[in-house]
Amino acid sequence: MHKSKKKYLFIITIIIFISIIFLNYNNIFLYLKSITTGYNIKTIKVFNDNNIEKQITRYSETLDEAIKQDKFNPKFLDIYYNINYQDLDNFIDLVNNLATIGYNASDINAIFANINPSNINIIINNTYDTYLGEYIKLDYFNEEKLDRYIKFSNNQEKLNYSIFFDNNTTFNALDIVTLVNANLDKEYYSNDLILTDEESNKTDAIVNKYYQLEEDFEPNNLTTIDSKYARNDSQLLQKEATEAFNQMCSDAKLENISLYSGSAYRSYKYQNTLYNNYIKKDGLTAAETYSARPGYSEHQLGLAVDIMNGNWSYVSKEDIEYSWLLANSYKYGFILRYPENKEYITGYMFEPWHYRYLGKELASKVYNSGLTYDEYVARNLN
Ligand SMILES: [Zn+2]
Repeated sequence: MHKSKKKYLFIITIIIFISIIFLNYNNIFLYLKSITTGYNIKTIKVFNDNNIEKQITRYSETLDEAIKQDKFNPKFLDIYYNINYQDLDNFIDLVNNLATIGYNASDINAIFANINPSNINIIINNTYDTYLGEYIKLDYFNEEKLDRYIKFSNNQEKLNYSIFFDNNTTFNALDIVTLVNANLDKEYYSNDLILTDEESNKTDAIVNKYYQLEEDFEPNNLTTIDSKYARNDSQLLQKEATEAFNQMCSDAKLENISLYSGSAYRSYKYQNTLYNNYIKKDGLTAAETYSARPGYSEHQLGLAVDIMNGNWSYVSKEDIEYSWLLANSYKYGFILRYPENKEYITGYMFEPWHYRYLGKELASKVYNSGLTYDEYVARNLN
């Protein structure tokens, strides 16, 4: 071959070779990047187009999938990047929906870690809830009530049905779960939960403005309180509570504290008379702050007692009897049932005289929790 012809061919070859490299340079680059980062080529291209390669320092399966499935929204880059991937058909759609509502990566991770995927639509069908990411992690969060928690959290003034509720109160994640578990997202008397005979006979039975007793429920072990510690001979409690009450009064006496039962067990019929008399006297709204509707009174359980002081009047906040009871009653199994500042929870005014028997063990737990019995139940038995 002629020498100049050889040279000519060589130059052509070089030109072709350079052109091939130049034309495929980007693809080769993407290919190498894909191998080193784990992302697919399509993803790497999107990184280039959006100029975000520098922000991506590790592999994120969620991010890779969002792009692969053409569901990538650049606004949510940070969210995809920080979410643990879940192997669900509609995972990226759920993430996009949650992110659109306003949930951040940490909320969304908490949602997938704590909520059954079939319930995530409940969250998506509601508006953004600031506290959701927190309360779904709590032990006594009950997924069946998810919709109620969100609605309550987003509309905290719902408690307006209670004359005790101060509209300036704001609830945190813990309150939201507690109050909804205690049914306070619903109006008083709107629940219609009637205790079975078996439930009514338990020492820990809860009776309040949501849980009621059958009209004919009467405890089968009513026993008369020692007349030394009662206003009259017809003061009854369930046997165990009577014994505890006698013991408490006897021990108090040793410290010169006089306690008497002013009113203990009350039948449905008797409660009905009382309640209606109070309404006649004070009107319905006022009467309901201190008198239970028939069927809704703990007195019908035979486990509640209104205590009188040494002067035969019902114990008041200023009495030494009150201080003594506050410090000691739980040791005998009794708790102050309607404390001050918890009126909107119990639905009753502060009643320094009304004590509820729960047994020593449970009474100590409730006492130490600092909660009302309603809240305690909401956090422990749901
Ligand atoms: Zn009472």
